[in-house]
Amino acid sequence: MPIAHFMAAANAHYYATRDPLGAAGDFVTAPEISQMFGEIIGLWLADLWDRAGRPAASYAELGPGRGTLARDALRAMARAGLAPPVHLVETSATLRAAQASIAPPPVFHDDVATLPQEGPLLVVANEFFDALPVYQLIRDAAGWRERVVACQDTLFLPVAGKPVPDAVVPEDLFDAPAGSIIESCAAAVAIVRAMTQRLVRQGGAMLIIDYGHVGPALGETLQAVRGHAPANPFDAPGEQDLTAHVDFGTLAAMARLHGGKVSGPVAQGDFLGVLGLAERASALARLHPDRGEELADAHRRLTHPAEMGALFRVLAILAPGWPDPAGFG
Ligand code: SAH
Repeated sequence: MPIAHFMAAANAHYYATRDPLGAAGDFVTAPEISQMFGEIIGLWLADLWDRAGRPAASYAELGPGRGTLARDALRAMARAGLAPPVHLVETSATLRAAQASIAPPPVFHDDVATLPQEGPLLVVANEFFDALPVYQLIRDAAGWRERVVACQDTLFLPVAGKPVPDAVVPEDLFDAPAGSIIESCAAAVAIVRAMTQRLVRQGGAMLIIDYGHVGPALGETLQAVRGHAPANPFDAPGEQDLTAHVDFGTLAAMARLHGGKVSGPVAQGDFLGVLGLAERASALARLHPDRGEELADAHRRLTHPAEMGALFRVLAILAPGWPDPAGFG
């Protein structure tokens, strides 16, 4: 089967059967490191909404995990006078249960197609796109082939499959050396296309935060984590988290193609820095002197280039008539 089908089936089982976040789980995300992350995103949205003339907008989040970012963002937005209805796109019943206590009570969606059709949308996706299935192509002496997963008893292995038509290979990557791999995420492209069309028609903004690069580029980034350690992606399907780097270059191009106004991508550390994370951490530390060390540690993890500051990137897609967003220099 294509790598993408393997990844989709493995992740559907994985997310349906557990809460993977936190110290007892497999990985930790930015909103789980500190409330400051969601608060800054909430203030970013509230600032845009204010400068757009305070329209009746909806908050929408894709893949909200435990709902931590939504709770922190909604609290910060409320302080700025923004109290939107909440729409969550989430396929995992386990995680929907964790998100159900968000106030106001969320409306759940299986995919973005059923999000409200009217009024501006304020959309956030943190570490959502990296969980979507990627296809892989692999180069051999004769040309490019699709990379597929072969199965022998309980052993899964990536192998070269059928040749693909030349037209599916990005032109500037075509003459790569044998063994080269190209990834592409059709699901991410389709969601960005659909959401950009909505923003253009309805107004609003979408903030995408994830780890990735500005492609298209050569290289394999499919990876697995289990218990906070890297694992072989083809071991134990459905029992470990599979992700791939997000190609921000391709997503930004898709958004522009459909009339969206694009800012970024910029590094997460720069985005949070410009929006005042250090000042917020100092203010909280003055209020709670016993939490000084914890806040300094959170600031470091979210912004230091050796932690999440450089690998994670932030991309904003806006309705053409909306103001320029803060945080992009
Ligand atoms: N945004 C959260 C969680 C990230 S984990 C955080 O930052 O902590 C990925 C999230 O995306 C989970 O909530 C998972 O259930 C959801 N998810 C993964 N694939 C999905 C899909 N195809 N459709 C909708 N949600 C999906």
